[in-house]
Amino acid sequence: MQLFRTIFAAVALLLIGACQPTKTVNRSATTAPKNIILLIGDGMGLTQVSTSFYFSDQPSNFARFKHIGLHQNTPTDAKITDSASGATAFSTGFKTYNAAIGVDSDTMPQKTILEIAAAQGKSTGLVATSSITHATPAAFFAHVANRNSHEDIAADFMKTSVDFTAGGGLKFYHERSDRKDFLPELAGRGYQIDTSTLGQHYDASKPYIALLAADGLPKMTEGRGDFLPKATQMALQHLSQNKKGFFLMVEGSQIDWGGHANDGTYVIEEMKDFDKTIGLALDFAEKDGNTLVVVTADHETGGLALSSLQAFGRSDYGQINPTFSTGGHTAALIPVFAYGPGAERFMGIYQNNDIFGKMMEGFVK
Ligand code: MG
Ligand code: ZN
Repeated sequence: MQLFRTIFAAVALLLIGACQPTKTVNRSATTAPKNIILLIGDGMGLTQVSTSFYFSDQPSNFARFKHIGLHQNTPTDAKITDSASGATAFSTGFKTYNAAIGVDSDTMPQKTILEIAAAQGKSTGLVATSSITHATPAAFFAHVANRNSHEDIAADFMKTSVDFTAGGGLKFYHERSDRKDFLPELAGRGYQIDTSTLGQHYDASKPYIALLAADGLPKMTEGRGDFLPKATQMALQHLSQNKKGFFLMVEGSQIDWGGHANDGTYVIEEMKDFDKTIGLALDFAEKDGNTLVVVTADHETGGLALSSLQAFGRSDYGQINPTFSTGGHTAALIPVFAYGPGAERFMGIYQNNDIFGKMMEGFVK
C-alpha cells in the first residue's frame, strides 16, 4: 500500500511536470489573436458608457470586461480630435490632423489594419449605422486628405477587399456626381448586394455589401430596430468561415450624433443598441477563444454629465438628469475595454494611436 502510494505520488508529479511546458506554450499563444473585433462607439465617453448602467433594464455588457484602460486622443493640429483623425490613429497607428482619412500629418497614405489583414489572407468586415464613407469606417479603407470627399472615399472602397459590409451611404456608390455606378462593378466581382433589406440577397459563399440608406441609417428612436446587432451577428458568421482569421470594425456611429444634438434620449437609445452589439461580440469571442474584442471611442461628444436636478436652490439626488456642456467634442480621456488574447495590453493609460500596435501584436505573422 505504501509502495503504491509512493508510485502514485511519483506519477502524479510526473504528470504535473509534463503538463507545465504545454501550459506555458498556451499562455504565450493566448496573447496572439487570430481574429479582432474592434467596436467603436463614436462620441462615447465614460458618461455615455455609464448610461448603460442607469437607463437600461438589461445588465450592461461593459461589466463583462476585466481589462480596462484609458487613451488620450489629441490630434496633431488641435487640442480636441474629430472622428477622422481619431479613427485614423486606431486604423494606421499614426496621429494626424482633424479631417484626415487614412493619411498621416503630411497627407501620406498609411496602411490600415484592415488592409494589412486582407493582404495576409484574413477576411475583413465593416458595420456602421452611418454611411460606410463616413469618417470612422472610411479611415479603415480610404486614404484621402479630407473626410468630406465621400465620393473619393467610395472610390477607395473599390480598391480594397472588404468581405462583409453593412451600413448606409448608397448615394456615394450609386448616384454619384461623376455618373459612375459602383454597384454593377461590385456585382461583377461576385458581391451579393442589398439596398433595402439586410440579408435579402445574402450568400455565405460570396462577399456581401448592404447599403440600406442614401446616407446615414435612421436613429434608434426613429425605428432602426435591430440592424446593428443583426448585421454584427451576420458579419461574425460570415467572416469566421475563414480559417486564417478576420478583422471586423463595428461602429455605433450615432452616439456622437445624439451628443451633437444634446439629446439625452438619442444618446441613451444608441448606447443600448451598442451595448447589445458588444454582448454579441463577447459571446462570439468567449466561444471562439482566439478572438480579441476591443471596445472604445474616438472621443467624447457633448460634454455629457449625469447630473442631479437643481430645484429651489437644492440638489435632488433622487433622479439622474442628462445635461450637456457643448454641442461639439471634448478632450476627456476615453475608456478602452478589452477581452481575449492580448487583452492585458490594453490596461493603463496611453495614446489613441497605441491601440493600433496593441491590436497588431501577434495578429499578423
Ligand atoms: Mg463615426
Ligand atoms: Zn462628432
